[in-house]
Amino acid sequence: MADAAIEIRDLEKEYAGSKKSPPKQALKGVSFDVPEGCVFGLLGPNGAGKSTLINIMAGLVNKTSGSVKIWGHDIDTDHRNAKLQIGIVPQEIVFDPFFTPFEVLENQGGFYGIPKALRRSEELLKAVRLEDKRNAYARTLSGGMKRRLLIAKAMVHSPPILVLDEPTAGVDVELRKQLWELVGELNAEGVTVVLTTHYLEEAEELCEQIAIINHGELIANKPTRELVGMMGEKIVRVSVDKDLGGPIMEPCFTKAEVVEPRVLEVTYDKSGTTAGQVLSLIQQHGYAIQDVTTREADLEDVFVQLTGG
Ligand code: ADP
Ligand code: MG
Repeated sequence: MADAAIEIRDLEKEYAGSKKSPPKQALKGVSFDVPEGCVFGLLGPNGAGKSTLINIMAGLVNKTSGSVKIWGHDIDTDHRNAKLQIGIVPQEIVFDPFFTPFEVLENQGGFYGIPKALRRSEELLKAVRLEDKRNAYARTLSGGMKRRLLIAKAMVHSPPILVLDEPTAGVDVELRKQLWELVGELNAEGVTVVLTTHYLEEAEELCEQIAIINHGELIANKPTRELVGMMGEKIVRVSVDKDLGGPIMEPCFTKAEVVEPRVLEVTYDKSGTTAGQVLSLIQQHGYAIQDVTTREADLEDVFVQLTGG
């Protein structure tokens, strides 16, 4: 049994340059583990290197150096077994438009050498709620249905690890909910799930652990709760009775920002300061307080802090 579902060490990737573009160092020595059984979020802005990392795991991109183990199998020395332990849902949707969902799954089963009698095509169609589209052409499926079919396709060989690259990019709210439900069900059955997203709220809601990658470097890797609690900060938004001349700064404020002419947002460390103190400091500057809301720092705040905006 593997200690970690995925083990990544000193992973580097340099894309060769061309006449038009210089070589690109997409991964600059990334190391982390994905614990078995969790939902793991890989978070980062566009161009951070998320797809590069996932495509290396999938065997679609060759790494420059470093090592990757999938369920204990090294992708260099034990490529076959590594590949059997992982199912990947790529960022781009590609299907032959003339195959039906059932055929897509059967073909994939054949590709993995699974005998017809042992294939799970019907069961998987049901799991992704496409049983009534069993015999429709792939080209007639909605974007959301295609996503779900891709998830089923990635699960054909029953891998213990499922990787989803930006599964909800460009997907509407309702469908996003459905996809996350499906991910939850698979995880409840014991599947380790890795997903990339730049929907911070979703990562916060879904993932037990989050790694943040930026410009090819890992800048954080922590249990979600720890990451969110890391700053120990609280944010108070205060409406005042007249236009603010400029931000009011006090030593106990981490940050103060005029977000509307009469609304000030103050970030402070909740271990040393109370909301009451923040409010009375604002009053001492000559403003009357009309409305107040407070919230804990969320992942978005943490991310902005870590990446320097
Ligand atoms: P993400 O998925 O986080 O948006 P990518 O892994 O797609 O990031 O890209 C990381 C960096 O590598 C980007 O700067 C991107 O332009 C570059 N890159 C990605 N694929 C290629 C490629 N095939 N050739 C050259 N550069 C690439
Ligand atoms: Mg990507």
